[in-house]
Amino acid sequence: MTQVEHLEKIWIPYDILYRTSESLRFYGKRKCEGLVLWLGFTDDKIGHIKKILVPPQDSIRSEDGVGYFVTSETLFSLNKLLSDTGLRLLAQVHSHPGRAYHSAADDRYCIVTAEGGFSIVVPDFGFGPCDLSHWAIYRLIEGVWEKLSPRAVKSIFFIEGKPDYQPKRKKFLF
Ligand SMILES: [Zn+2]
Repeated sequence: MTQVEHLEKIWIPYDILYRTSESLRFYGKRKCEGLVLWLGFTDDKIGHIKKILVPPQDSIRSEDGVGYFVTSETLFSLNKLLSDTGLRLLAQVHSHPGRAYHSAADDRYCIVTAEGGFSIVVPDFGFGPCDLSHWAIYRLIEGVWEKLSPRAVKSIFFIEGKPDYQPKRKKFLF
């Protein structure tokens, strides 16, 4: 099993991207941030996102801003699910009311803690385009959440099954 930090490519079904957007919008309609987890398998430096999980969450709205809160019971069930199924937590995705960036709180309370894991921040409560190039993508590198350049995002993430999209697969060994 490949360590998450050694993953060079991540394949995501478009359906999961779309459902992520829809889930974030569900919370966004109530002016709340939402959180979605992407679980998948790893196979020789390639991560395959297979499952979207919208964990039970309390969205917080206060004068200090908005946020989300996941209980320790939820984290416990998540870890049990991962160990029962062999799935890995590859990325977490959460929305912001406006600009997409990793806040100090995001750094501190990230659910993804594995080196090489991804944290994605979606602007405008998810009401913008359902497109990774519009989202801010961070990767945990040597314990620091680093923002990936658009070029890095393009070289790592591949969307499968997008309508009218022909993935260029021949460069890769499948
Ligand atoms: Zn945030």
